[in-house]
Amino acid sequence: MPCIQCGWCCRQYRGFHWAKEPDLLRWHREGRRDILQYVAAGRNPDGTVRTAADLAEAELSSMDPATSWTDPVTGIALEACPFLVKVDPSRYVCAIHPTKPAVCRDTNTWEWGLGRYGPWGCPASPP
Ligand code: SF4
Ligand code: SF4
Repeated sequence: MPCIQCGWCCRQYRGFHWAKEPDLLRWHREGRRDILQYVAAGRNPDGTVRTAADLAEAELSSMDPATSWTDPVTGIALEACPFLVKVDPSRYVCAIHPTKPAVCRDTNTWEWGLGRYGPWGCPASPP
């Protein structure tokens, strides 16, 4: 598709990602603790943040779907996706593109059209 990598859709969604069980299990199998650490999973008895990187496969299966990326230390929801990388003044890329969440992979922003997003809509949308 004619995506120009402006990064608008990822910036618009900020920290929201709706990681679901298949995403969590895939990252677990792939050893992607660097991704799983951004998914909060409650608190440890000592009050420190527990993340999906600390969970076993069975625990990941029973987790509620995460609705935002969270800071691995504070557990607070992030305002931006930690994997969006600005590579030049007008171009962004996804640092985890091969294994990004299904919601990112399957959302065809250009098909939603300008009406959905108003004047800030996806520039790859048909007129
Ligand atoms: S808003 Fe459209 S053109 Fe910009 S990165 Fe997203 S899909 Fe690509
Ligand atoms: S994971 Fe990748 S595709 Fe999804 S919001 Fe972040 S940068 Fe965008």
